[in-house]
Amino acid sequence: MSALQLDDEHRQFRDLARSFVAEKIVGQHEGWEQSGRLPASMFTDAGGHGLLGFPVPEEFGGPGVDDFRYHAIIVEEVARVGAAAAAIAFSLQNDVVLPYLTDLADAEQQARWLPGTVTGETVLGIAMTEPGTGSDLAGIATTAVRDGDDYVVNGAKTFISNGENGTLFVVAVRTGPERHGGLSLLVVDAETPGFERGRNLDKIGLHAQDTSELAFTDMRVPVANRLGAEGDGFYQLVRNLPQERLSLAVGAVAAAEGVFAATREYVEQRRAFGSPIGGFQNTQFVMAELATELDLARTFLDDCLAQHVAGELTAARAAKLKWWTTELQVRVADRCLQLHGGYGYMREYPVSRAFVDARIQTIYGGTTEIMKTIIAKDLGL
Ligand SMILES: Cc1cc2nc3c(=O)[nH]c(=O)nc-3n(C[C@H](O)[C@H](O)[C@H](O)COP(=O)(O)OP(=O)(O)OC[C@H]3O[C@@H](n4cnc5c(N)ncnc54)[C@H](O)[C@@H]3O)c2cc1C
Repeated sequence: MSALQLDDEHRQFRDLARSFVAEKIVGQHEGWEQSGRLPASMFTDAGGHGLLGFPVPEEFGGPGVDDFRYHAIIVEEVARVGAAAAAIAFSLQNDVVLPYLTDLADAEQQARWLPGTVTGETVLGIAMTEPGTGSDLAGIATTAVRDGDDYVVNGAKTFISNGENGTLFVVAVRTGPERHGGLSLLVVDAETPGFERGRNLDKIGLHAQDTSELAFTDMRVPVANRLGAEGDGFYQLVRNLPQERLSLAVGAVAAAEGVFAATREYVEQRRAFGSPIGGFQNTQFVMAELATELDLARTFLDDCLAQHVAGELTAARAAKLKWWTTELQVRVADRCLQLHGGYGYMREYPVSRAFVDARIQTIYGGTTEIMKTIIAKDLGL
């Protein structure tokens, strides 16, 4: 029996999410890949179907349901069909950025920011990484200098997901010299003078996801847009990262299961030397190994999801889950591509997209190496 309990309401919600994906995403995704970004209408359509902002309180337009399983179901359904860019967008909107607003913003800030996150009119992003620092979060150099009721922000961010579509960003800035205690989080409207989007970066995969540079030049951000106390930024980021990593793992396992299912069909149909390639012992062994690993991944993931729902998922366990499931996703995509032969290298075969899309998963949200440093620290090493 799975550690993760889903009731009838979750199952009904999965049906809703699945039909949304079939109707609004599957047929359109290729076009979005060509245009290099998701359309703003995907977010408002998702909002219209009730797929955004489950924990947002009713007074701010949400259902007020603080149950991570709903958000996990959406990411799963989107990732399973290979729409990785859209899966990342849902993950960011619902799981990565929203908690900063629901958990750390005060009532006045919530009234300003939350309603649009539920309708999809507000597209969220988070800007931590800079050209000079990624893994080393505490190395952030973007400055925010207090001037009256504003901060004056100068600096640059890079690799920011939803960078072109985003309308509201949580931005990590330096408000003091202390390595950890000198960071703060500001919520920045993309319309703010001095906020500039750079290039939509040219990636090897995730072509429908807009990943951009952002530049801030004498950008005045009201002090009223700071989350929590000045100097709390690093600790606020660390607090929210386990859910971000869990959400990435949800996408990783579902995407790997999706590519495995497609490959299973392929090896039954494709023939060589007079028989289906699924009849070769090598193919059978590869598929048997992947089926076993996916079973392990699903069991581990469900256990972590159950722990998270109970408020018990630790940073170290989320790190274990993140590195292991994303490395598995890369391995599954690679081995499935091999079983497709030359067709696997052709863009028209979904496995080729799964291969390039998977590759980023072991890097963002904290690299595999950084996950291992967290685990080693937890081991007391
Ligand atoms: C497509 C995409 C989307 C992204 N989206 C966002 C986003 O929305 N918001 C955001 O803020 N960032 C985002 N990022 C940035 C991402 O989180 C960083 O790229 C990642 O954290 C790694 O940082 P870095 O690229 O600076 O690599 P570096 O930190 O320079 O790391 C380079 C290598 O050194 C290793 N390394 C570093 N430190 C250690 C250590 N202590 N021990 C062992 N090895 C180490 C790393 O594991 C890696 O292999 C995104 C990146 C990409 C590519």
